[in-house]
Amino acid sequence: MDSEVDRPAPAIEGAARSRELSPVPGWVGIVRVAAAAAAATDPPASFLCRARWGRLAWYDVRGPRPFVELLWALEELSATLCEVCGAPAVQRETWERGIHTLCPRHAVDVAVAGPKVGDVYDRAWALLRNTQ
Ligand SMILES: [Zn+2]
Repeated sequence: MDSEVDRPAPAIEGAARSRELSPVPGWVGIVRVAAAAAAATDPPASFLCRARWGRLAWYDVRGPRPFVELLWALEELSATLCEVCGAPAVQRETWERGIHTLCPRHAVDVAVAGPKVGDVYDRAWALLRNTQ
């Protein structure tokens, strides 16, 4: 089944450090867009983010209005992309873990993993590292 793992989110050069900023592997591409925009703002903007209710939640945001508006748009985008692999997804209510945005494949993986759900995300992180 792992041979079917979806391709990682599109890479953006020069933002390697932002991988750790993303709370989940599926949203690395989104957070890289935000990091690139922050770096391109003068003076540089900044932000932190976490996953909350199946979408990116930004905090400690510093930057001009257009940058903040970009973050809002990226937050909307995150609610449509799988937290694990970045494929098109919908927000799903999960057993005991609240709302998460998952593609059909990872909705199954997460349900099967149960309390070991962290393994599903760890495998996706490992895959990202191996393809960079
Ligand atoms: Zn997925």
